[in-house]
Amino acid sequence: MRVVVIGAGIVGLHVAAAAAAGGHEVYVLEREARLGEHTSGRNSGVVHSGIFYAPGSLKERLCIEGNALTWGWLERLGVPHHRCGKLVLPDPGDEAALDALAAKAATLGIPPVSLCDAARLRTLEPHVAGRDGIFVPSTGVLDAATYLEAMRRFCRDAGVELLTRCEALGLDGGHDAAGTLHTTRGPLPFDAAVNCAGLFADRVAALAGLPGFEIRPVRGDYFVLPQTGLVSRPVYHVARPGDAGLGVHLTPTMEGHVLLGPNVVALDAEARTDYRHRSPPDAFAASLHHYLPGADAARLAPAFSGNRPKLVRDGQPAADFVLERRGAWVHALGIESPGLTAAPALARVIVGALLGENAGA
Ligand SMILES: Cc1cc2nc3c(=O)[nH]c(=O)nc-3n(C[C@H](O)[C@H](O)[C@H](O)COP(=O)(O)OP(=O)(O)OC[C@H]3O[C@@H](n4cnc5c(N)ncnc54)[C@H](O)[C@@H]3O)c2cc1C
Repeated sequence: MRVVVIGAGIVGLHVAAAAAAGGHEVYVLEREARLGEHTSGRNSGVVHSGIFYAPGSLKERLCIEGNALTWGWLERLGVPHHRCGKLVLPDPGDEAALDALAAKAATLGIPPVSLCDAARLRTLEPHVAGRDGIFVPSTGVLDAATYLEAMRRFCRDAGVELLTRCEALGLDGGHDAAGTLHTTRGPLPFDAAVNCAGLFADRVAALAGLPGFEIRPVRGDYFVLPQTGLVSRPVYHVARPGDAGLGVHLTPTMEGHVLLGPNVVALDAEARTDYRHRSPPDAFAASLHHYLPGADAARLAPAFSGNRPKLVRDGQPAADFVLERRGAWVHALGIESPGLTAAPALARVIVGALLGENAGA
């Protein structure tokens, strides 16, 4: 069967790898000239544990499954990563929410979280200020650019045809059956198609005859502190219900610098690829001092921005990932965080749904 995957982000590449493992002829279409121009190349690079998501949600289930699968992929592909765990530290008034988070984490079947009192915090992160928090061992960080490139090579070696500068523009045929995609590089017939178009997934859904979805992008800007040795693992607040993301947090980069972000900036739908970093450093300096009182905020430098593909379905915000199977198509919509972590698990579900296969890791 010929499977066409639209979008060569981390989700599309994992879908392609899983479909190729099932013996299918696989094409991946990517509108950009290079990989990582959009969300998969513009994120915190954290392999999430799954503790922050709504109970029973796809985000929770696929993040937990994806966490385990991702460590395997990173080892297999030789992608730089650190399985360093993370700290979640409460702000004043967050103690009950932290207790609830720790209790919930204990039910998820993930490596157990543990309490981190002031003495342990000093040992783990001597520069970080904070109150009694929790240590989450299954979290870590990866090098997203190297991961994408390694997945591209893996797919190529598995026989996947990756077509860059190839945008899906239109469709002959409906959802229910095989059809032909019109692309900027000519027509491409397919038996099955997967929409992994990220920030553009609503447009690809519409071109395939699936209405009712709209992406409303939300930008997150990052600053970087080019000092090394200040943090060894991600440090988070306790996320509050209704937050657009997990809040500004600290993440050590692969080079050992401190990444600070992302904040939350609403964008017009037409600005979904606007990555201009416009946040003033003041709010980031306050966050930096909150976590790292001894750090020199004057050295904070704008780093990069990433846009979250926030999904609206029939006019209502969709809080969870949406996987919509229609005939010969599966659409992956609203794949915001923790999509980098969940990608191999999303691929299993998508390829299983589309091709009726239990796709290999
Ligand atoms: C600020 C920020 C921080 C994040 N941090 C984390 C984190 O720490 N951990 C984590 O697990 N997740 C994180 N995420 C989420 C994660 O980055 C995404 O969920 C994931 O990268 C989504 O991958 P994707 O393949 O769905 O989308 P993308 O990477 O956006 O890929 C989609 C691709 O489709 C292509 N495309 C679109 N339309 C077409 C078309 N018509 N024809 C051909 N190609 C097309 C695009 O060019 C693009 O390359 C973060 C996201 C943001 C924005």
